[in-house]
Amino acid sequence: MPRYAVFGQPIAHSQSPRIHAMFGAQLGIAVDYRAIEAGHGGFTHALDAFARDGGVGANVTLPLKADAFALCATRSDRAQRCGSVNTLVRDGDDWRGDSTDGIGFLRDLERLGFDACGRRVLLLGAGGAARAVAFALADAGARELMIVNRTRERTTELARALRFDGAFGCELAQVGTLDGRYDLVVNATSAGHDGEAFALPPRLLERDALGYDLSYGRAAQSFLAWAREAGAKTASDGLGMLVEQAAESFAIWHGRRPDTGAILAALRD
Ligand code: NDP
Repeated sequence: MPRYAVFGQPIAHSQSPRIHAMFGAQLGIAVDYRAIEAGHGGFTHALDAFARDGGVGANVTLPLKADAFALCATRSDRAQRCGSVNTLVRDGDDWRGDSTDGIGFLRDLERLGFDACGRRVLLLGAGGAARAVAFALADAGARELMIVNRTRERTTELARALRFDGAFGCELAQVGTLDGRYDLVVNATSAGHDGEAFALPPRLLERDALGYDLSYGRAAQSFLAWAREAGAKTASDGLGMLVEQAAESFAIWHGRRPDTGAILAALRD
């Protein structure tokens, strides 16, 4: 039976094995998908062992998306553009890389009834997930994209890579100087995982704004509390995106797309 897995560190908390099992059950496809712990040092070795053992597809999560990008022999256009890979497909003796984070994010915005076209967006973070989200938002026709990150150089580099006149960069320490009124504020940092909340000013949001955190559970709590306090009409965690990006990976591997609404509802329960 072909095998699938998610690699990352830490990985014990990952919902991906459960989500893929639910997709398989829904569509009547037998799925062998497990979580494999690997960090920067052991990833290549662990992936080789996985392939020898029948591994034909994998997801990668923190901190491995750049490592996965580097080891792929070929990559999809969207992975190439955003410089990040979260989905691997066995192709002969090589791996082909894809990135489903951007499309997963846009599908979840759609579920929330938010159209990014013509909107002003503030994006916190400039790592792998933020890059995928930034390209997806530019493609969706966002009017302005302000990229705010702890490390300033990464904001400038990402704003340039987007080749989009409405993209700007700002260091996180300067976020208080922004004149605000964004329609969408996205937290794509991993700060919440270490309980490292950072301060955001109260007046960043338009009246009908959406505050969206890519993480979920405890890691999202601090940002979502800020968004509600700052007057967001909707504050959402990234569980919907997690299901949508997983559905896209599932469709790449199995050729069929699950009904994500039912799975998200079951996970929320
Ligand atoms: P990366 O490691 O590639 O990037 C991490 C980002 O967080 C960088 O911009 C980094 O800034 C910033 N950061 C880390 N710690 C802090 C801190 N203490 N204060 C401020 N900024 C900080 O991670 P990913 O891009 O892969 O993931 C980011 C988040 O998105 C994670 O929470 C992950 O779980 C979530 N995610 C959710 C998905 C979903 O489907 N819901 C899919 C993919 C990711 P700097 O550049 O300065 O280091």
